[in-house]
Amino acid sequence: ETKAEFMRVLVTGGSGLLGKAIEQVVKQEGGCLEGEQWTFLSSKEANLVDLQQTRAVFQKYRPTHVIHLAAKVGGLYLHMKENLHFLWIFNCSNQNMIVCVCVDFTDYRGYFAQHGRRYTAVIPTNVYGPYDNFNFENGHVLSALMHKTYAAKKEGTPLQVWGSGTPRRQFIYSLDVARLFLWVLREYDEIDPIILSVGEEEELPIKDAVEMIADALDFKGQIVFDTSKSDGQIKKTASNTKLRRYLPDFTFTPLSEGIKKTCDWFVHNYDIAR
Ligand code: GDP
Repeated sequence: ETKAEFMRVLVTGGSGLLGKAIEQVVKQEGGCLEGEQWTFLSSKEANLVDLQQTRAVFQKYRPTHVIHLAAKVGGLYLHMKENLHFLWIFNCSNQNMIVCVCVDFTDYRGYFAQHGRRYTAVIPTNVYGPYDNFNFENGHVLSALMHKTYAAKKEGTPLQVWGSGTPRRQFIYSLDVARLFLWVLREYDEIDPIILSVGEEEELPIKDAVEMIADALDFKGQIVFDTSKSDGQIKKTASNTKLRRYLPDFTFTPLSEGIKKTCDWFVHNYDIAR
């Protein structure tokens, strides 16, 4: 297998929820093979909406593989507030990435001739885990509610859940996504995107997840559902049939366990958490 000697992987969005999870799998779970070079790029190092800065990054690290995670992300309520801004950042950084991949990868003719250039996309369902954005207003549902539960417990106030609690979601733990990401990078040869998700039967109502969070943080106070806030989509069921065809035995972290680990991380890292 000569692939390993050539791999220089650039991970954009390296300090975010998924970037940090991939870093952990690479550095602590033996996800890195000998001779590989992994770079985790953070937005502090380069603004990928800027083409010159993106070029400079490619010239510096000369990646053979790119995991492009950098994006502006947020929960339902931030999307409702800033929809167009999201689209603009998404388009600019993706375009710069593609320009640089096309221009700079042609330097690696040997690599190229041997392996060709491949792109694919992964589509995870709702991801949660350490290093998520725990902001009250802008975070995704689980991380925002972990923070709200933590605060309600401390202040002895009721926990305010936004919406009715009946919408259903499929949640996937960031470390599971990271392990699957490495599999995609090394083994998945299709151009067609692949959905990374737990099974459809595991789509569960927000209010069930709220109970798991309350358990994990030992919150015994009142839970209130604020139905003046939007519910968003009532469900977003995604099929993992394709993933299961490739990886029938992959074990997903049970939601209650992932929630417990994320809550523990949040409590211990309260000062650095976003
Ligand atoms: P979505 O899956 O794209 O809709 O993104 P979210 O992770 O933001 O989940 C939104 C769902 O969680 C909606 O049904 C919200 O009503 C519900 N929800 C309940 N409390 C909160 C909260 O504090 N923050 C967020 N983002 N969603 C909440």
